[in-house]
Amino acid sequence: MLAAMVQLIRDVAQKLRQAVDQLPHLPRALGLVRKAAGCWTAAWVVLLVVQSILPVAVVLVTRRLVDSVVAATMTGAENPGFREPLLLAVVMASLLLASELARALAQWVRTAQAELVGDHIRGLIQERAAAVDMAFYDTPRYFDTLYRARFDAQTRPAALVESLGTLLQGGLTLIAMGIVLFGYAWWLPLILLLSTVPALFVVMQAIVRRYEWTVNSTMDQRRSTYFEHMQLTRETFAEIRLYSLAGHFRTSFTTLRDRLRGERLDLARSEAGARVLAGLAGLALLGASLIWMLLDALRGAISLGQLAMFGQAFLQGQRLLRSSLENLGQIYSNLLFLGNLFEFLELEPTITDPHNPQVLPSPIKHGLSFQGLTFTYPTAARPALEQFSLEVPAGSTVALLGPNGAGKSTLFKLLLRFYDPAEGSIKIDGIDLKDLAQADLRRRIAVLFQAPLEFSTTVTGNIAYGDLEAGSNPQNISRALEAAGATSIVDRLPEGKNTMLGPWFGGTELSLGEWQRLALSRAFLRDAEIVLLDEPTSAMDSWAEAEWLSAFKEHVKGRTTIVITHRLSTARHADLIHVLDRGHITESGTHDELLAQDGRYAAAWKYQVGAVSP
Ligand code: ATP
Repeated sequence: MLAAMVQLIRDVAQKLRQAVDQLPHLPRALGLVRKAAGCWTAAWVVLLVVQSILPVAVVLVTRRLVDSVVAATMTGAENPGFREPLLLAVVMASLLLASELARALAQWVRTAQAELVGDHIRGLIQERAAAVDMAFYDTPRYFDTLYRARFDAQTRPAALVESLGTLLQGGLTLIAMGIVLFGYAWWLPLILLLSTVPALFVVMQAIVRRYEWTVNSTMDQRRSTYFEHMQLTRETFAEIRLYSLAGHFRTSFTTLRDRLRGERLDLARSEAGARVLAGLAGLALLGASLIWMLLDALRGAISLGQLAMFGQAFLQGQRLLRSSLENLGQIYSNLLFLGNLFEFLELEPTITDPHNPQVLPSPIKHGLSFQGLTFTYPTAARPALEQFSLEVPAGSTVALLGPNGAGKSTLFKLLLRFYDPAEGSIKIDGIDLKDLAQADLRRRIAVLFQAPLEFSTTVTGNIAYGDLEAGSNPQNISRALEAAGATSIVDRLPEGKNTMLGPWFGGTELSLGEWQRLALSRAFLRDAEIVLLDEPTSAMDSWAEAEWLSAFKEHVKGRTTIVITHRLSTARHADLIHVLDRGHITESGTHDELLAQDGRYAAAWKYQVGAVSP
């Protein structure tokens, strides 16, 4: 028995230590709340204090009321004086009314506070997501952290403040009740306190287990969201229907959810069992104390009013202690989960600007130089580029060709400094990219990505996102459309450049090639000297390609351009063509030179023009 007690105390002490470890999150969380909703929080605290005082006043008035009723009925007079009891009843009613009012007000204030804090934290998460490196997005750890930060920690600061507030309210009332009970006997408040020790232990243990389960099951929770996503979105519709995969994903989802729910319910069941045991211990003490008081009243040691007051104070004290305990548990739990939010908010980009960034000359005189680049993606087993070198003279157009996975798009990502190479360097006019401010660098480059975004906004909006300042001038939009050979597409739309696009808000849908041409216009809106195009003609028909090529040549005149393409009909117009394979350049030259070399390029050309069979 003694050993069990010692073990229990040790366990409680350990859980308390774990709780203390989380305390550094508290000031940070409170700081967040103050910043997001300082005034609302102050108003809420005031209302909580009011709410905590009122129940004590009710208890005190109860005693006076009962005693005055007893006194009035005991006088034996024909017209007993009910004035005082009536007056006290009015006071009691007013106090109860004030309680209701304060509660309703607090609820309203609390809603405003929670909304503000939630939005503030969403903003912080978005800010951080915009700051981290592209490499973060490559790892499941990033998504786990983001998932926990978004779906859980977001509501935690407000919940933390609520728990703290309720604890403050309950604590104040509790102290007052304790003082009232102390008037009966010194040991009564102590018994009240002791009766909650087992429950404290149970609550702490349950929270730690729940938290550990949440962290360990994050990947599976995300997987279940993925299975759901596969059945619910427009992007997945075609293949899911074609291959009749809805049932498969539904089963995968249900199986996984069954397992997760089972684990969660197991935790809840063992928690409930422990709570019952802890509750029984508390109830035994409560019952014994109430019987003690009743006996005292029967002996005449206390008046009926006092019995009502002490009994009420004791019962309320027990209730308050239990809810305070729950609040403590909530605070602990919120602090644990806030650790996830802060972990996410603390993610720091490794690609940073230098202290004294250099400025790129304008115009660029010498061009781009890739020297001895070796780069491996964080989750990849082999390098995407290995000892890769290439010179792109200023004002020239270079085409990059090569099989899938050769490393062509990776080169663009390095040039945009989405990643840094492990070895080698990229220089523009002799200035290493690492010596430039990233925003400055990216402003000087117009890019068409392989899978460009389709913004659900108007045609103008889609193009203006390429340069918000230039995009505010309609003439610039028209010029960008022309440069991308997209004017005829827009002319066909019901409201021209003002036509709303995309499915989100009931816009017109475009074909893949049309979207691609709009993305090109977006890239060309930027009057950038460096132009990077990743498969610009992949979704174009041959006529569109021919039309586009002439507009393209005109647009890139004098600019330094790299075009990644699988279409030799596009590549042949470049000043120089490079063939890449497994992260190296294997052939270089003009179209005619490469044909003369009779290597891979020549073989591909003969195949594409139909001179040979594959
Ligand atoms: P394609 O012609 O198919 O577009 P590519 O030449 O542009 O191919 P890259 O996209 O540069 O090829 O990819 C080069 C290699 O790097 C490939 O083997 C690919 O699997 C790998 N890779 C690309 N992106 C990532 C990533 N985010 N994480 C891990 N590996 C990646």
